[in-house]
Amino acid sequence: MLILPTFDDVVAAAKRIEGHAHRTPVMTSRTVNDELGAEVFFKCENFQRMGAFKFRGAFNALSRFDDRQRRAGVVTFSSGNHAQAIALSARILGLPATILMPHDAPAAKAAATKGYGGNVVVYDRYNEDREAIGKKLAEEKGMTLIPPYDHPDVISGQGTAARELFDEVGDLDALFVPLGGGGLLSGSALSGRALSSRCRLYGVEPEAGNDGQQSFRSGALVHIDTPRTIADGAQTQHLGAYTFAIIKRDVDDIFTATDDELVDSMRFFAARMKIVAEPTGCLGFAAARKLKSELRGKRVGIVISGGNIDLERFTSLLAA
Ligand SMILES: *Cc1c(COP(=O)(O)O)cnc(C)c1O
Repeated sequence: MLILPTFDDVVAAAKRIEGHAHRTPVMTSRTVNDELGAEVFFKCENFQRMGAFKFRGAFNALSRFDDRQRRAGVVTFSSGNHAQAIALSARILGLPATILMPHDAPAAKAAATKGYGGNVVVYDRYNEDREAIGKKLAEEKGMTLIPPYDHPDVISGQGTAARELFDEVGDLDALFVPLGGGGLLSGSALSGRALSSRCRLYGVEPEAGNDGQQSFRSGALVHIDTPRTIADGAQTQHLGAYTFAIIKRDVDDIFTATDDELVDSMRFFAARMKIVAEPTGCLGFAAARKLKSELRGKRVGIVISGGNIDLERFTSLLAA
């Protein structure tokens, strides 16, 4: 039996990360409100420390380590943002971090992870099982494995972003959240369900990797091959046991966005809101734009989940 985290855990996580994580800004745009005929609030986690919400869950998880765990350190696997989040949190808390990264991880993310002092070990994303490698390292070296999404402390930490959003803007009719493995969405759902009686909670995935949508709609956990999409933060193969249980219970629906739609949203954020969002960070807005008429007259929250992208890649995506 899984013991699922609750909103109380989100509140406890918020206390642990206070003074370490930023309380990120909520931004609005008259142009967006006019386009959607709605009142839209963007929770800008691209301005979070290390550039994405992942710092919240990672710092929350590592700050709960006991002395033995602190000495042996943490191990994790990640295509980027969770890696940076673990490396930075470990440095702040003074414990060693080993990070398994795919050979094709974005250069900026790999460099930043090393820059934060993480010990980076490379694996082949398309042929090797990162979870098995991580578990082996954990067993052999006594390290504690903190996975990128399927962990109660990670989920509760990620839930603090939506809690801040409700706290700042009041009740919402809908909340759009980027979805990879589901840590951000399930944490947001814990906050949404506790703080609103009416808010519809939506996850948004890359169209090329809609395992979460398939799982949600069929009720059974669906596994897919690593999807090829520019949304590298959501190239996950399946939801987790914890995240799927919460998503099944608390989320209203899961939508998708294509790579072209993500680029359109990136361009909009840069041109109109002066925001650099990474492709995965644009999932929520891309989906909301497609629902347009259904959102008319509503109060809508959208999480911009991260802003980590190589500048060269950013400009080449926008130029294409
Ligand atoms: C990790 C990540 C996601 C997906 O989060 P999950 O908790 O895996 O669903 C979305 N956006 C960004 C920027 C990320 O780094």
